[in-house]
Amino acid sequence: PAADPEPAPKPGFIGRMLGRDDSPRRVLDDDMLERLEELLIQSDMGVETAMRVSANLAEGRFGRKMSVNEIKTALAQEITRIMEPVAKPLPLYGARPQVVLVVGVNGAGKTTTIGKLASQFREAGKSVMIAAGDTFRAAAVEQLQVWGTRAGVPVMTAPEGSDPASLAYDALARAKAEGVDLLMIDTAGRLQNRADLMEELAKILRVLRKLDPDAPHNTLLVLDATTGQNALNQVDIFRKLADVSGLVMTKLDGTARGGVLVALADRFGLPIHAIGVGEQIDDLQAFDPEEFAAALIG
Ligand code: GDP
Repeated sequence: PAADPEPAPKPGFIGRMLGRDDSPRRVLDDDMLERLEELLIQSDMGVETAMRVSANLAEGRFGRKMSVNEIKTALAQEITRIMEPVAKPLPLYGARPQVVLVVGVNGAGKTTTIGKLASQFREAGKSVMIAAGDTFRAAAVEQLQVWGTRAGVPVMTAPEGSDPASLAYDALARAKAEGVDLLMIDTAGRLQNRADLMEELAKILRVLRKLDPDAPHNTLLVLDATTGQNALNQVDIFRKLADVSGLVMTKLDGTARGGVLVALADRFGLPIHAIGVGEQIDDLQAFDPEEFAAALIG
């Protein structure tokens, strides 16, 4: 992740800045709305989305006398309204195996998320297989094997530097032969050479479709919440590289940059399938808009 010039605010800072008060003596006027917008922007919501949220807040409430607590509740409600349409679990129905391609920059949390998802689906009684498609990083393959062991799921690997598409093909062939429910394919996240990465992903898609014209059924983009507004650029980039069908936002534990999720929902409308809230195997949760909005406002 890029170095961040400004220190990140602490979670719940919006609520702390506004304070706590039940007496209806604040007027929701332009000054108040401007202050709220600034706080939302500090949470990495972006100017455009912050303005939309404050406009929605003002609608029917402008000039009204409210308590701070009422303002916070109304703000959380407006954010919930934007987030509700994108809160969707990973859809795993239809043909078997369901193929999930996992993309994202190195360090975003792909390996960890694959491990956590594998564990959840295993516990839900599904058979799961993982393909370690980042064949250029030996450490990534090893890490995925560790997660596979933890989750009790087989991990298909190939020698370092070998063709990820051929591994993806072999993995899907085996998953089909064994009647596996879910195949998750990790991919490389080197953006330094975007043309190479694009070619690599395109080749993976081509070979998968030889075995199943509908594969991959889902392409998950894993994003790191601590990168703030950068996540928006990553969606732009990866949508050009692959047909991204949904998002997982990692590292929401301990960051106040979660506002970027609202910007993502507002700008792209892509489903948010899950959020990462820690480094352990159980630290992956379904995205709950109401809980998220309450935590963001604090
Ligand atoms: P990859 O390069 O995209 O495969 O990223 P990794 O899965 O290796 O994750 C990079 C780092 O982020 C590791 O140290 C992970 O433990 C950590 N990480 C991943 N997800 C989360 C999360 O939800 N919360 C926290 N705090 N750390 C995470």
